[in-house]
Amino acid sequence: MTLEGYRGKLLEILSNAKCSIGDDIVIVTESRSIEGVLMPRYQYADAEHLVLKLKNGYNIGISADRIKKIKLIGKGKEPSFATPPKPEQTPGLPKVLILGTGGTIASRIDYRTGGVRAVISSEELYHLVPELSSIAEITTDILFNIYSENMTSEHWSKIATRVAEAIRAGYDGVVITHGTDTLHYTSAALTFALESPPLPVVLVGAQRSSDRPSSDSASNLIGAVKFAAESRAKGVFVVMHDGPSDDELAVHSGVRVRKLHTSRRDAFKSVNSEPVARVKNDKIEILEESIREEKESGSFRLFEKFDDRAALLKVYPGFHHSIIKDLVDNGIRGFILEGTGLGHAPKSSYGAITYAMSKGAFVGMTSQCINGSVRMTVYDTGRDLLSIGVKPLGDMLSEVALAKLMWALGNFDTSEVGDIMTKNLRGEMQERRLL
Ligand code: GLU
Repeated sequence: MTLEGYRGKLLEILSNAKCSIGDDIVIVTESRSIEGVLMPRYQYADAEHLVLKLKNGYNIGISADRIKKIKLIGKGKEPSFATPPKPEQTPGLPKVLILGTGGTIASRIDYRTGGVRAVISSEELYHLVPELSSIAEITTDILFNIYSENMTSEHWSKIATRVAEAIRAGYDGVVITHGTDTLHYTSAALTFALESPPLPVVLVGAQRSSDRPSSDSASNLIGAVKFAAESRAKGVFVVMHDGPSDDELAVHSGVRVRKLHTSRRDAFKSVNSEPVARVKNDKIEILEESIREEKESGSFRLFEKFDDRAALLKVYPGFHHSIIKDLVDNGIRGFILEGTGLGHAPKSSYGAITYAMSKGAFVGMTSQCINGSVRMTVYDTGRDLLSIGVKPLGDMLSEVALAKLMWALGNFDTSEVGDIMTKNLRGEMQERRLL
């Protein structure tokens, strides 16, 4: 780490003073001298301020214009993350693989320099969350370390492939740590990619990072590992806070869950269904017995391909439908329209939708109401869209429909996509609600 995040004039004066992040320095301004540790700047922070950690622990920003001189007092150490010894392990515990993908959960902070990095070994994880060592024998594997808004269907494929390896290697459960923003897209994608998994695959995130007193990192991770190790459930699930309490976590089906709040710890809710289980005061409560049953389709199969030439479009008053034609002409092979109300789009968009279908694109309809099901036979607009060929997707969430469409386009012939999208494959929709 040298001068991470500094640019322009500040980078120049800091380089001239031979300073690095973490060094003890004195900033001399017109009115005073301020001593502290040079902190890194975030990538998108402004270029005009230098950040110093004072002896009292507070950080301050100093405008470059005020700096008359910088004196280097002492070289700082690179942030170090010592690995403590692995705690005693009870023999015979279930084997759980934790796959890291990024986000705030399972990251460590060096308070001196503000450096953050992913927890990489099971030893470190046991150290941060010692409770885990009495629940499972854990192996960790960091697949990538990204914020979830940067996930693509290629990442979904990699995760699914790694889970399939874990299944073959005989693990009892898999936990995937993930940023919360798009966690529900990944849970849906994995539900389709993994047919009849014989173990629980549990996605977990944290709304508050581990350096905050209200962090949900540890409690969510403990709950997720417990569910992965002990529930004997089969399928893809999301484990997060159920309410304000740290002692109650909800377990959601991977295709029935959505992030519904920007900051609350209980941001994730099952939509159009109930949680399938809870982890309450360290006990697992199964609410939906079928999650433990073998799936009818029999043995496990991996369908790891996704074709991301699919788009999710929200309909709105004055909808700019010409975007549909542009996207089709740019190779998009399918659309999920998040329609208004029961599944509507303005009459002015019919031509663009018909054009998309004439080029072989799939067009499916979900509702932006989030709760409830599309019902396209109630009003003439819905009936018109049905007669053009738009497929109603019942009570399937738009995000789930998008992941399913990318999966269907990636693994099956175009002629089969319509049938696949309107069939309930993994509990993602109630078929009887289709029209
Ligand atoms: N935007 C980040 C993500 O979704 C936020 C951090 C987090 O939620 O873990 O990865």
